[in-house]
Amino acid sequence: MNTEGLDIQALDTLLYVCTFLIGSMVGSFLNVCVYRIPAGLSIVKPRSRCPKCEQMIAWYDNIPMVSWLLLGAKCRNCKAPISWQYPLVEAITAFLFLAVYWQYRLTLATPVYMALAAALVLVTFVDLTDWTIPNEVTFPGMPLGIAFSLVAMFYPDSGLVVLGSFEPVFNALIGLFVGGGILYALDKVTLILLKKRGMGFGDVKLLAMLGAFFGYPGVVLIIMIASLIGSVIGIAFIVANRSKSEEHGGHYLPFGPYLAFGGLIVMLFGQGIYDWYMAYLGLTPAL
Ligand SMILES: [Zn+2]
Repeated sequence: MNTEGLDIQALDTLLYVCTFLIGSMVGSFLNVCVYRIPAGLSIVKPRSRCPKCEQMIAWYDNIPMVSWLLLGAKCRNCKAPISWQYPLVEAITAFLFLAVYWQYRLTLATPVYMALAAALVLVTFVDLTDWTIPNEVTFPGMPLGIAFSLVAMFYPDSGLVVLGSFEPVFNALIGLFVGGGILYALDKVTLILLKKRGMGFGDVKLLAMLGAFFGYPGVVLIIMIASLIGSVIGIAFIVANRSKSEEHGGHYLPFGPYLAFGGLIVMLFGQGIYDWYMAYLGLTPAL
């Protein structure tokens, strides 16, 4: 192997390490957002405090994943337990950033999909803890998805994945309306048949946003993945919690995390799945 090859390999390793560090720091920021956005608090100030003793958290006690381990999951000052959700969000974000870099390398798609991955982690944990999907994500997400489909159309080397057999911007627009429309219709049907809400309107906006990013075949894939994972986990949850299954009786099912998971799968593997399916049908893959 020549030295130039080694240099490129070293640079690639360095980029993976940087990606992991940036991902864990973004994850640390997402923890702040998960806690503050549903409460309507500012996400930039003030600095983080222990929710129990209100002691300001020093930078050396705020290092992603590491501090949680070193502190033994307890506040340095008052020894109140620190939730494992904090290092979990940091680790998930760091590994998703690694996966995005591994798949998209030095293309425009890499920063775009890192931001989208972070947004989907945020959606997942806000929906799990607060039973809402933040408009702060879906409102800008819908027009951004359409905007990036235009980028994909005029700049085919961007790496951006907008599935479908039309021009990217049309695939995205159909995705936006199909994604929003399907869940909206499902919600209406559930409301009429079961006299209770099936989905939240947040889910409608989330799937519309993902449709705008990945095109209408992306919407179909996301619904398939979300329903599959959702029913497996849902059944396991009902079996495990038979006695308290009515705890959230008046509430809708949190479908957001499953939609977000489907979105992440399509983001990383959507093009491959789409091409495979088109070849399976004997059709030429649309480019
Ligand atoms: Zn404390």
